[in-house]
Amino acid sequence: MLGATGSIGVSTLDVAARHPDRYEVVALTGNSRVDVLYDQCLQHRPRYAVVGLEADVAGLAARFSSAGLATEVLAGPAALERVAALPEVDVVMAAIVGAAGLQPTLAAVRQGKRVLLANKEVLVMAGALFMAEVKRHGATLLPIDSEHNAVFQSLPAGYAGDAAGSGVSHIVLTASGGPFRTTPLERLQSVTPDEACAHPNWAMGRKISVDSATLMNKGLEVIEARWLFNLSPEQIEVVIHPQSVIHSLVQYVDGSVLAELGNPDMRTPIAYALAWPERIAAGVAPLDLPAIARLSFEQPDFVRFPCLALAYRALSAGGNAATVLNAANEVAVAAFLDGRIPFLAIAEIIAATLDAVPVRPMPDLAAILAEDAEARAVAIALLERQAA
Ligand code: NAD
Ligand code: MG
Repeated sequence: MLGATGSIGVSTLDVAARHPDRYEVVALTGNSRVDVLYDQCLQHRPRYAVVGLEADVAGLAARFSSAGLATEVLAGPAALERVAALPEVDVVMAAIVGAAGLQPTLAAVRQGKRVLLANKEVLVMAGALFMAEVKRHGATLLPIDSEHNAVFQSLPAGYAGDAAGSGVSHIVLTASGGPFRTTPLERLQSVTPDEACAHPNWAMGRKISVDSATLMNKGLEVIEARWLFNLSPEQIEVVIHPQSVIHSLVQYVDGSVLAELGNPDMRTPIAYALAWPERIAAGVAPLDLPAIARLSFEQPDFVRFPCLALAYRALSAGGNAATVLNAANEVAVAAFLDGRIPFLAIAEIIAATLDAVPVRPMPDLAAILAEDAEARAVAIALLERQAA
């Protein structure tokens, strides 16, 4: 489990612990939340625990040894790749947030494992290369993002990227609209990180919560869907659906629309992907339609939420553009969460970074990492200019 200490990680351990006959935890990775990782290791007794910093290894190892636990402690990016590729690992949950998850997730793909992908930034920054590696190594890629999991469930079994041959016209990704869907526009300049992270329907990590507030999350998901399902930008629609009950839909050429519905609880897509093609209990309450009473829909507001348009722009531009978009977004969101820039500056920084970095082809992993680094440097320079 890459990113065990995060929101998706905690939900995954919750599902796995309900089925001790099916799942054994081999390795748990965290970054800086070493106390959370310690508690998780006490409960799940993995063979390996991975922390971010070498400086945390000795302390955690000493605590394990006093607790009589044989878990070996490793640190850093190379250790993430090592545990993701272990021969005794069948399934890798990719739940690190951001670009840091790319290489360990690729390491799992290159061993042909079943990869449960929550870490959408991996597909946004490296979609073409990542999907080619999945194919080449015969890995099984299952989407955890609730929208993509819903699309996966609503596509024909065995769908392998042939939309026309499968009678698929297009897909519709639903978006809650986030905490600022109806906030007066003039208030958006002064909203705080805590307000941005107070999502109406989902409890998530802080980066994806801000992405949901700007709607960049939906933009990243449009790009994610392009790669997962081999669709053109025109075949990926977004509709605002504030109740988050319909998790996404597939429109077929005959007029049929198939969708997956449920309570907004990530344990549903996690359990689905863990057990696929079987089904296992996830601890999620059944959907109570009379209690929900009504479902509503509206068009996304591209003026209020410029990040969604920026993501479509990057997708259409191709080459390095989505990598640049992702890197600039990570830099801008971190700055907003640190109180260094106002909310509306997030979209401005991303747009200015896309303007500044030329569109170029991105043939291999080295090029992807170079584009990511360059875009971060450009975004940081823009931030500093804003602050000055
Ligand atoms: P989170 O912030 O709660 O957890 C992130 C995890 O990544 C933590 O375990 C952290 O230790 C680890 N991590 C962070 N930086 C790292 C680094 N540099 N090196 C190694 N590990 C690092 O985030 P989350 O909400 O669990 O989201 C994880 C991923 O899943 C994101 O890509 C997010 O977009 C996606 N996702 C989350 C949800 C959700 O409901 N939370 C839904 C759909 C998709
Ligand atoms: Mg989602």
